[in-house]
Amino acid sequence: MQLESIIGLEIHVQLSTQSKMFCACDNRNELMPPNTAVCPICLGHPGTLPTPNEAAVRAAIKLGFALGCTIAPRLKFDRKHYFYPDLPKGYQISQYDEPICSNGSFTFDGKTVGIERAHLEEDAAKSFHGVGGETLVDFNRGGSPLVETVTRPDFRTPHDAKSFLQEMQLLVRALGISDGDMEKGHMRCDANISLRPVGDETLYPKTEVKNINSFRAVERALEYEIRRQTELWKDGTAPAVSSTRGWNDIEMKTNEQRTKEAAHDYRYFPEPDIPPFLIGPLLEQCRRDIPELPAAKRTRFQEEYGFATQDARQLIADEALANYAEQVVSEFFEWVRSSAPDTDETELKKKSAKLISGWLLTKYLGALNDAGRLFTPDTITPENFAEFLTLVYLGKLNSTTGQRVLKQMIETGADPSQIIETEHLGQADGVALDRWIAETIEENPEQIEQFRSGKTAVLQFLVGKVMKKSRGTADPEEVAVQFQEKI
Ligand SMILES: [Zn+2]
Repeated sequence: MQLESIIGLEIHVQLSTQSKMFCACDNRNELMPPNTAVCPICLGHPGTLPTPNEAAVRAAIKLGFALGCTIAPRLKFDRKHYFYPDLPKGYQISQYDEPICSNGSFTFDGKTVGIERAHLEEDAAKSFHGVGGETLVDFNRGGSPLVETVTRPDFRTPHDAKSFLQEMQLLVRALGISDGDMEKGHMRCDANISLRPVGDETLYPKTEVKNINSFRAVERALEYEIRRQTELWKDGTAPAVSSTRGWNDIEMKTNEQRTKEAAHDYRYFPEPDIPPFLIGPLLEQCRRDIPELPAAKRTRFQEEYGFATQDARQLIADEALANYAEQVVSEFFEWVRSSAPDTDETELKKKSAKLISGWLLTKYLGALNDAGRLFTPDTITPENFAEFLTLVYLGKLNSTTGQRVLKQMIETGADPSQIIETEHLGQADGVALDRWIAETIEENPEQIEQFRSGKTAVLQFLVGKVMKKSRGTADPEEVAVQFQEKI
């Protein structure tokens, strides 16, 4: 029997607003001492009244638009009841029958995912279980704004589910509503999965997998569930009721937490302290605030600048880097057009994409990484980087001297022409060096033959010849490198 997997995701995104969902407490409270970002409202003291945070509402509307959802004309909150120490009111303010966003459809990289709903709610506090068996609660996170997005069961592979989750991270970052950092718990994911025989249209009881804290874990947890449930189907004991399981990243398996019979009854009812209110006036503003979305930007980078798929993906993943690349490309085009006006545009596009890929993504980011530094647009200005690429493009810098200039640019921030002048790395040297090497190759056929047949020690002799021709101005290391490239 051929089985297929039916997968849906529930994704919680913590919104990066200044204050919490229903009170003025600082929402950037992770690093604050425990229980300092709290007030009578988020601690659920009697007689206090919640006030919805407009920034959080706007963030949810923007996400809804980006996911192709319908936005509800009015905002209605409900109480979801359960008892746990991290929930001082004994209920969570959430949205039940009128989610702010519903019925969406989101397309990326040629795949379309249905979005059932996305709703606003407040986060619970954080519990810490001590070694002595005691439980400590930090209420700083309690009341932070969350948007929970529920997809339709449209994924057929763990990889597709992971890709969507990664796209969600890019999306919330592009919208500026969250950093979507899974390791910090700013984006959390539960995955629902069931199997069915191929061709069967029934949706069988699903298993909800919780405690997924990384992109890798989503894929692994789902792969584990597919193996486990495939065995059950083979044995004729496919899950007959829905259940909840927890992913254990160390044991690399899921463990049963509860089955449907023991599921919570949350006794939802409308939140009496926040009467529903109309949000129509916010919609148009929110729509205008939506920037170019990552999937569209990737396509544009490929079509407009000729970037390869993987390069476009890498650039778009970091907004600052993407903006930087766009500035560099546009400056580079300017430089080349003014210094070599007869350049063919198609050719120029192709070459610039290749240059950016090699020099920006590989060498520059690699050098920064080696130095333990992060990319910032100010280390080398886009103008200087574009000038540098132009020099490489026009053959005034070769790969070796290029890397030396780049290193200096990172260290000093100086423009490339200045570095070439002070370091004597310029065109004359490069051209002269090429000539000296060519002459040396021609004048010493015997040694060249020896080198080709594996006697690498002869390289020193050849380098010495070039050093003599250059009267010592050439860089012996570079001469050696160039010999190896040329022979
Ligand atoms: Zn508060």
